Amino acid sequence: MRITVLAGGIGGARFLLGLRELGHDVTVVGNTGDDVTMYGLRICPDLDTVVYTLGGGISNERGWGRENETFRVRDELAAYAEKSSSGSEPSWFGLGDLDIATHLLRTQGLRDGLPLSEVTRRLCQRWRPGVTVLPATDDPVETHVTLTDGRTVHFQEWWVRLHAAVPATRIELTGAAAATPAPGVLDALAAADVVILPPSNPVVSIGAILAVPGIAAALRSTDAPVIGLSPIVGGAPVRGMADACLAAIGVETTAYAVANHYGRRPAGLLDGWLVDDVDKDAADRLTEEGLPTRAVPLLMTDIEATAAMARAALDLATEVRR
Ligand code: GDP
Ligand code: CA
Repeated sequence: MRITVLAGGIGGARFLLGLRELGHDVTVVGNTGDDVTMYGLRICPDLDTVVYTLGGGISNERGWGRENETFRVRDELAAYAEKSSSGSEPSWFGLGDLDIATHLLRTQGLRDGLPLSEVTRRLCQRWRPGVTVLPATDDPVETHVTLTDGRTVHFQEWWVRLHAAVPATRIELTGAAAATPAPGVLDALAAADVVILPPSNPVVSIGAILAVPGIAAALRSTDAPVIGLSPIVGGAPVRGMADACLAAIGVETTAYAVANHYGRRPAGLLDGWLVDDVDKDAADRLTEEGLPTRAVPLLMTDIEATAAMARAALDLATEVRR
């Protein structure tokens, strides 16, 4: 089967590890809203998380960046910032030494005029993720966050530096209006047998991908069933601060509310929804209200558990297709 998955960083990447076990032809549409330029280097955290995770190079402990990483360059930059006026860029961003090699190659490729999709394809020649990885768009987009104190900051500053502790009132993908889906993205959605929204952040990962004009419409119009998995379990994110993102767009942090936020096709995006066993009540209620929803274990504790989640998503796809 041809399966297309919209993915953010950790949640998307870990889900893909399980899905890959099932041996299908998988295309990933990756989030580029987290992308940022630092020290002149273009950094694509979510694409890198997917590629490193599937390529076996991720730090499992941190969930982002490389294993056996060192941070000597970052520390050296911090020493400059402390002792001279040359420190203009932030030191809170985790720029690892091995990771920098990826950013150097990406930046050089972009500067040579290659689109991000082509640069990503070349990076994948080394990592061999076993899936096709496409950025949602080749155009430069960035998620910006407006805070309750009136400031508007790059998503990375809110997330990494402020730990999302200052509430947000608005989250926006800047550059989206002028962006178009990267080559292959719309085809991958139209030609898929199943489309999956993995347990990625509904706002800054999935939401940012959907903000690229044409992608949400392609989800609504594909013949493939669209199945989502809840990143919210028992009223909280399994990892990270998705609750702060959901609050910013006025959505409660529950599996039920996220399903309603995505909505049911054709007006919304979903044909089926998976929640964790602890949210069985939400499954019953959503199913009653017209969105086929199943309660299954949704914790990606290991590859087998994650593969079982992917299988449950494909089973639900078969069920709702009939
Ligand atoms: P990020 O870009 O690195 O933040 O990663 P994603 O957007 O792809 O995924 C983040 C989301 O994954 C968070 O909202 C988590 O709640 C969710 N998540 C992480 N681990 C699990 C898990 O084991 N099960 C489920 N259901 N969600 C998870
Ligand atoms: Ca991310």
